[in-house]
Amino acid sequence: MYPRLDIDLAKLEENAKTIVDACRADGIDRVFLVVKVLAGDVMTVRRLAGAGFSHLADSRIENLIRFRDIPLPKALMRLPMASEASRVVRDADLSLNSEIDTIRALGAAAVKQGKIHDVILMFDVGDLREGIWHESAYLPVVSATAGTAGIRLAGIGTNLTCYGGVIPDAVNLGALVDIAKTIERELGLKLPIVSGGNSSSVHLLGTHTIPSDINGLRIGEAVFFGRETAYGNPLPAMHRDAFTLYAKLVEAAVKPSFPQGKIGMNSFGEHPDIVDRGLMHRGILAIGRQDVEAANLTPIDARIRIIGASSDHLIVDLRDTGHHVGDVLAFHVDYAGLLRLMTSRYVHKRHRH
Ligand SMILES: *Cc1c(COP(=O)(O)O)cnc(C)c1O
Repeated sequence: MYPRLDIDLAKLEENAKTIVDACRADGIDRVFLVVKVLAGDVMTVRRLAGAGFSHLADSRIENLIRFRDIPLPKALMRLPMASEASRVVRDADLSLNSEIDTIRALGAAAVKQGKIHDVILMFDVGDLREGIWHESAYLPVVSATAGTAGIRLAGIGTNLTCYGGVIPDAVNLGALVDIAKTIERELGLKLPIVSGGNSSSVHLLGTHTIPSDINGLRIGEAVFFGRETAYGNPLPAMHRDAFTLYAKLVEAAVKPSFPQGKIGMNSFGEHPDIVDRGLMHRGILAIGRQDVEAANLTPIDARIRIIGASSDHLIVDLRDTGHHVGDVLAFHVDYAGLLRLMTSRYVHKRHRH
């Protein structure tokens, strides 16, 4: 069945173990496995969950519900909506938070369900996505969180390199540690988890740059693509090709490379910028922007070039490959491509064990 995404579980499992070991060697033992890119793919998550992670994390509660039988505490990565508090408390053991009203809603839901819900308070140390601003007067929020019935303050965390592209370093991770120390000193609260970021912190492992008070990370992309995300460098001894996309040619013909006729908008309302390269051996694949953006695919045969896509068709320059209609072409995918492919119900998933 095509299009088809192959998922190499053995490679992913090796990546997962390599990351957990590297974290442990740096004194980090609260490593969350963040699987939001898998859109709730239970088979893959089950295989990775045994690699030594402390928590299983996703940004959507719908996915955590699917992971109910996997024996790891569940953590919700996107800040909850107060309106979903009871679902969050039911299906997640822990959530990341920055708003006291939401935390109070979670506490009320937890009391009603006879549960204690763990909260990690997020602090923004410069990237400007989620978190309490680190230079604000944060102690009242921390103390109100710790004092909310049904809530346990499980720790603090920060998130970097997501919106602003800010790279984790000794300064901004140091700011997180200062907050932890201030909370302990001023409020007398012990924080079991101090979570120092995502795959963009992985390049610091083994460099003695991560402050020793940081004992947690939340890792997704490094496991799935074997690279750190501060600079995009490959990580040694990790697999970068665990995912491969296969799509089928439904047309292969020699045609001009430049459209004939008066040119307006394409099917996505964009004005195409097309270069005339003369006659071209053009192929059309049965996959489109509903499933993946062309920019997130790389043909494995380096001779082939992607030249455009509409919602259901991907157009390629087949050059001198001699491919015919019915042939299958293979592509590497990146993180953003994987996210869309996993979400598309039109893409068949095959797990290789
Ligand atoms: C997605 C996410 C992560 C994991 O990010 P990667 O770059 O995939 O490692 C960690 N923390 C939060 C809050 C996230 O949303």
